[in-house]
Amino acid sequence: MHEWALAEAVIKTASQIAEKEGLDNVSEVNIRLGELQQVDIEIFKFALSQLKAPKLEKAQFNIRRDEAKLRCRVCSYEWTFSSVELDEEAREAVHFVPEIAHAFMKCPQCGSPDFEVVSGRGVWIESVKGVKRHG
Ligand SMILES: [Zn+2]
Repeated sequence: MHEWALAEAVIKTASQIAEKEGLDNVSEVNIRLGELQQVDIEIFKFALSQLKAPKLEKAQFNIRRDEAKLRCRVCSYEWTFSSVELDEEAREAVHFVPEIAHAFMKCPQCGSPDFEVVSGRGVWIESVKGVKRHG
């Protein structure tokens, strides 16, 4: 049900943006989805297509995965989650609880386990496009 709650939040936010920007009809909603966000994209897409809001009936939902980035607090080195060699089990665990990454990874530069997740978490709306209200 997690995907449905997320979809509802996206629809609600997109409606608010459409309202604020004076859009009559939304044609496109561009969504960014963090790599470390545990979401079943198929269910998420289905939920989005089912949850119709007045101005979003014809909207197309584009979902883009946002690559996870990590930054070392000691030497400021940045690297991507996908560049790290992890076994399947560890990768799953990190996807589920990003905080757990520290148990499986170290800074590739200095070996410190003290790093932060810079990006790759959460779901947000990048842009909402549509037809502006006339007059
Ligand atoms: Zn480092």
